Amino acid sequence: MKVTAIGTGYVGLVTGACLAEMGNHVLCLDVNAEKIRILNEGEIPIHEPGLQEIVQRNVAAGRLQFTTDIDRAVNHGTIMFIGVGTPPDEDGSADLQYVLAAARSIGARMTDYKVIVDKSTVPVGTADKVRAAVADELTKRGSTLAFAVVSNPEFLKEGAAVEDFMKPDRIIIGSDDEQATLFMRALYSPFTRNNDRMVVMDLRSAEFTKYAANAMLATRISFMNELALLAEKVGADIELVRRGIGSDPRIGYSFLYAGAGYGGSCFPKDVKALVQAAQAEGVSLRVLAAVEQANERQKMVLVDKVVARFGADLSGRHFAIWGLAFKPNTDDMREAPALVIVQELIRLGATVAAYDPVAMPEAKRVLGDLRSFSFCERAEQALEGADALVLVTEWKEFKSPDFDAIKAALKQPVVFDGRNQYEPSLMKVLGLEHHGIGRGSAQ
Ligand code: NAD
Repeated sequence: MKVTAIGTGYVGLVTGACLAEMGNHVLCLDVNAEKIRILNEGEIPIHEPGLQEIVQRNVAAGRLQFTTDIDRAVNHGTIMFIGVGTPPDEDGSADLQYVLAAARSIGARMTDYKVIVDKSTVPVGTADKVRAAVADELTKRGSTLAFAVVSNPEFLKEGAAVEDFMKPDRIIIGSDDEQATLFMRALYSPFTRNNDRMVVMDLRSAEFTKYAANAMLATRISFMNELALLAEKVGADIELVRRGIGSDPRIGYSFLYAGAGYGGSCFPKDVKALVQAAQAEGVSLRVLAAVEQANERQKMVLVDKVVARFGADLSGRHFAIWGLAFKPNTDDMREAPALVIVQELIRLGATVAAYDPVAMPEAKRVLGDLRSFSFCERAEQALEGADALVLVTEWKEFKSPDFDAIKAALKQPVVFDGRNQYEPSLMKVLGLEHHGIGRGSAQ
């Protein structure tokens, strides 16, 4: 099939590349000329395991191309994916300006039937707005061309995006148009051959499903983070509690890890957008409002622990940060807890040296030139002369470090373990002072 992907970020690029891998001819459009230049030079502007190989293979096979030329992009695809950003507006609601601009650019140029697919995460009712925007542009041209709008929210996880797209748990299609549903079934059939994981529903339910999924995952994290606060007070170990409840199949183990708060481009903005959308309907989503508040507090938990240990005036103190990205295997720094932690430690007078395996260029771009802050080439280098190590992102390379080397490099053998990666009893034996999250009885 001929597919156009509008927006070549994490979602658009992965979608385009994976569809090309199955034999489709895909043209990816972005308004960011620099991104397209990088892609056309065979490089990938984001860090996503396995993506570069797929992109290079399909570019070489002539099935995947990149452009900033809107006319060419609209002309190319019968199926037009919209995968542009939907950042939070000032009041937390989803800003649809990029989605609607993409819809208008299709309506203004299309010369044949199109299936327009909302892949961005968008509030309930957006498909109607997209349909109206396209129809308005067609009317302006006096055109009566047929088109369909479909909702196909994306559930990939950054860091495992290619794998998730290739082996989806489910594919949600919101559609009220039989032909468009048929096209979508055909497009996705290679991904669901032996196990039909396609769930077809009405447009509004499909749009809602994406928010519901992210809201549920964020809720599990905030729930455990709050229980971790209590576990510390009452002398229980949240890691044991996690295993204890996760073994119940009604609960399961996923997304029950207490830590330094969730971040990324999705959970924070989608929870806010859902709360805001509900408010506009006169419905108060109290649980979700609390999920968001609990997460804001959680981003400060490591700083609070540092202050409890070293005092509120951190002048003259130096800290090593391991991990900056909001989670492992990505360079995405959007809403990363590390941003709050670094800035807060510096505000309290400390100097900070950080290391992240891939997110340092992106962190440099986001943080700019921060005084009292430096990046290190290697994890061990960040430790030198530090009063403590603060582990923020659980990259694999931090899971089993050389604890003797850590102890030798630090001025004081203190570790703030923001992702509960280290066993408190082992740390004690090794002579390291360990501060985990919610590890009351283990500490
Ligand atoms: P992103 O910011 O990485 O990429 C968006 C891209 O769209 C940018 O490159 C931007 O230049 C481009 N763009 C904006 N307006 C355009 C236009 N009119 N024409 C062409 N290109 C345009 O965003 P992302 O992380 O890929 O997210 C995209 C959407 O998918 C969001 O709604 C997000 O919530 C959702 N989503 C993201 C993830 C994720 O893990 N990142 C997962 C599922 C869903």
